[in-house]
Amino acid sequence: MDNCLFCKILKNEIPAKKIYEDDVVFGFVDIYPQAKTHLLFIHKSHTANINEMANDPKAIGEVFQAIQKYTRSESMEQEGFRVVTNLGPLAGQTVFHTHFHVLAGEKLGRFGS
Ligand code: 5GP
Ligand code: ZN
Repeated sequence: MDNCLFCKILKNEIPAKKIYEDDVVFGFVDIYPQAKTHLLFIHKSHTANINEMANDPKAIGEVFQAIQKYTRSESMEQEGFRVVTNLGPLAGQTVFHTHFHVLAGEKLGRFGS
């Protein structure tokens, strides 16, 4: 996708602080952190949002396996973390390459405000 910010990050056209990579998944630090730890995990194949990605359940599994691998390697399970994905304007989606926020490192607020 030529005009996609996260595809540009995947192509190294825009720098990002990489924290995870395998053949199909990329993880990096969010540029405007909303928690002490704020990471983004994306699949290397472009989809616009989670409902589009749902046509490719293997890809969803691959992203969640990457999150599992990373959070276990960083011993994040005991303290805990939150995985969030936004779709559309009400949820505040601003980048239209499906991404999973991983929020951690501090007590997180409740949803919906
Ligand atoms: P959304 O609002 O679409 O759910 O999430 C998009 C996220 O991408 C936001 O949390 C925003 O801070 C992050 N973001 C936007 N532009 C960049 C960028 O150039 N680099 C990185 N690392 N994160 C970005
Ligand atoms: Zn993309």
